[in-house]
Amino acid sequence: MTEMVQATLSGSVPPPPHPREEERIARLLGYDILDTERDELFDRITAMAAEITGSPISLVSLVDRNRQWVKSNYGIDLKQSSRDDSFCGHTIMDADKLMIIPDSMKDPRFVHNPFVTGEPHIRFYAGVPLQNGDGLAIGSLCVIDRKPRELTPDQIVSLKSLARIVVDYLDIHRSNRELTRLLLREKEIYSRLLNLSSEMASSSFTLEQALQRIMDHLDPTLGWLSCRITNLMTHGSGGIRLNPLLPPDPEIDQIWRQIDSHPTKPLHDGKKTAFISTGITAPQYAYLAIPIRNRGKLQAKIEMIYPDHRKMDSRIKEVFDIMASNLAIVAEREIANMELQHRAVHDALTGAVSRTLFLEELQKTISKTDSFHPDTALLFLDLDGFKDVNDNFGHQIGDRLLIEVTERLRHLSREEDILGRLSGDEFVLLVRHLDIQQDLESLLKRIQRHISHPYMLGDLEIRITCSIGAAILDRNDLTTPELLRRAEESMYLVKHGVRNGYCIATPDIIRDFKNRLDLDRNIHEAVYQKRLLLHFQPIVEIETGRICSAEALLRVINKDGSVLAAFNIIPSMQRIRLMAEVDEWVFAESVRLLQQHMRIFETIPGFRLSLNVSPSILMTHGFATLSLNRLKTAGVSPTMFRFEIIENHLDMGNASLFENITFFREAGVEIAIDDFGTGYSNLQHLISIPCDTLKIDRMFIKVIPSGEAKKIQLLTAMIKLGKNLGYSLIAEGIEHQEQADQLLSLGCEYGQGYLYGRPMEIERFLEHIVMHTPNILPLSKQHSSIQEFEVTPTYALPSKT
Ligand code: C2E
Ligand code: MG
Ligand code: MG
Repeated sequence: MTEMVQATLSGSVPPPPHPREEERIARLLGYDILDTERDELFDRITAMAAEITGSPISLVSLVDRNRQWVKSNYGIDLKQSSRDDSFCGHTIMDADKLMIIPDSMKDPRFVHNPFVTGEPHIRFYAGVPLQNGDGLAIGSLCVIDRKPRELTPDQIVSLKSLARIVVDYLDIHRSNRELTRLLLREKEIYSRLLNLSSEMASSSFTLEQALQRIMDHLDPTLGWLSCRITNLMTHGSGGIRLNPLLPPDPEIDQIWRQIDSHPTKPLHDGKKTAFISTGITAPQYAYLAIPIRNRGKLQAKIEMIYPDHRKMDSRIKEVFDIMASNLAIVAEREIANMELQHRAVHDALTGAVSRTLFLEELQKTISKTDSFHPDTALLFLDLDGFKDVNDNFGHQIGDRLLIEVTERLRHLSREEDILGRLSGDEFVLLVRHLDIQQDLESLLKRIQRHISHPYMLGDLEIRITCSIGAAILDRNDLTTPELLRRAEESMYLVKHGVRNGYCIATPDIIRDFKNRLDLDRNIHEAVYQKRLLLHFQPIVEIETGRICSAEALLRVINKDGSVLAAFNIIPSMQRIRLMAEVDEWVFAESVRLLQQHMRIFETIPGFRLSLNVSPSILMTHGFATLSLNRLKTAGVSPTMFRFEIIENHLDMGNASLFENITFFREAGVEIAIDDFGTGYSNLQHLISIPCDTLKIDRMFIKVIPSGEAKKIQLLTAMIKLGKNLGYSLIAEGIEHQEQADQLLSLGCEYGQGYLYGRPMEIERFLEHIVMHTPNILPLSKQHSSIQEFEVTPTYALPSKT
């Protein structure tokens, strides 16, 4: 041994410093193997090396700056030792050469080495430097024996091969470590992404905010080339973002266009994040589509284009799926919030806007009105007979009907229109940007048509119609209550049959309605204050002029004492639903007057008082029984009555109607069809309603003698038909003698009209009877309280033909 040796305190001769020590250490650290766990791969090598060389000990030892660290030990429990005491520290000095110490006791470098003098008493050592062909050995694979010896050439070759395998393993270890490090880094990116997604889920109030955060913080190191975020809830797109770490790609716009024209629209059907090839035109790109779904609807989408599909890590799908579910939570929260807000200002049942919100919107719209070019209309819609639906089928069906009606109205309106429900079955619709002249009427007709289509509610088929009033926003100084009233008033005109289906408010209509409203108020008050009166109009035998009966006609006494005729007051009473009450009064008053003046009425053989009975009361169950009982109690014979009915509102299917009529007739009350020949009466009804008398309407009498030939022919036919069917006939509205003459010649026996006497107060009527009935005492002798009237007969007896 020529080498100069210098022993350490322990007796070792330390290995000389390595000429490229720093490089060597860097290389060693690069393997990232020091202080790692035991590895079976290396253990197998040391076991094999020991076996092949017939050595009891083998090590894979790595030479660190100051120590030798043992990666694998066979036959000895050595983890590390000082570099100075190491044999391997010497081995690495010549990276290309196997170092063999046949007998350490004969080598001055090792003779005092503690591993030689002490355990494990090394006498033989052979080490192959571990290096990668660049002359930098980081350690050695060595075999050790406790006795001096040699290696055979085969053993040397094998040991060298094993050393190469050790180096390969070291390389693999390094790659694995790099991979792990890379994975850790990715993991960090993913976890950052996940953190971002959960953080934005908890801190964003709206989906828009959340998406914006993702757009701003989406990690460019994920390798995407471009990303795009679209919020379908707001129909907005957050735009396209390009990855700042990658060079701009001129193709990118083209790729987005291609995606947008993709015929299958994968994003709209897919439930989960998906990789989708960008197709033939750009096969190297990959498209990542992340749908954000909530309540079965696509609410938003995140889309990314990757420059190369191989750069996409399949795990990102899972990360984005988690992100998508977090975003769906944000969307749900936003929708729920919106619903809460919506509920605050919308009707809970139908979802139409509430009264308050509607009026606010109406006010805003009014203030923007251009009076030169009005383009907005307020529609007030009320369902006809909705109460009946509720009464007959229950509130649940009523509610469902309202929902359906709302749906239809919504369907008929546009996005800028506002649909509100004021109460019950009252809807309001603010229709904007409308060509009033051209389109308002057709819209109203369309609404009418659609609302009246049958509704299928479970097993029920329900039909309903609606009355619509419309007011045009034609001035910006209108107030909301004023406008609402205009529309509502117009609607009422439809309700009360003044208009058909719909009504657009005009100044005339508004004035008329106001008058009607005043009248209704007046009538209402009059009914409650019993300012009611009956007038009597004589019905005579045309041939003789003899009074044979009278019609009681209702009057209202105004506060100033003036009297209102029935044609004015009856529709008002129907409007305010007081007709039944008034009918009762009329009946009671008639009974009272008949009782009171019975002696006079009795002077007229077969005298009857004609009462106009409203259809509703005639269809009331038990009406006849009750009335007949009252007559019995009052001691007035039913044969003193005739009930005049108009068929316009009679329900021919109503059992009570026929029962009442039958009971009355059986008891001796005569039934007359009033206003016969007008639109309401027809032959069908004539056959179905059991009656005794037809009152021919005034319009047929008016045409005598100079009227249209056709109408006269019709009158002739009517009289003939009536007579043939055995009815007694009363002609209404006879004003002239000629009319009486002609009616008589046609075979009509009885008549009523101004010719014989206007409707008059009871006192005057009694006077009239006295004057026109032979053999009757003057009234003054009969009834002291009744004043005498001077009555001049207005008619002459018809000339006998
Ligand atoms: P109506 O039963 O056909 O009554 C006849 C109407 O013709 C009366 O009008 C009467 O004043 C009018 N009249 C009679 N003769 C002539 C004539 O020669 N020329 C003209 N131009 N008119 C004549 P009024 O009293 O205004 O009654 C209108 C309608 O009101 C009645 O028609 C009847 O349907 C209804 N009505 C009247 N009183 C009552 C009542 O107590 N109850 C009910 N439910 N309806 C009533
Ligand atoms: Mg009548
Ligand atoms: Mg009549």
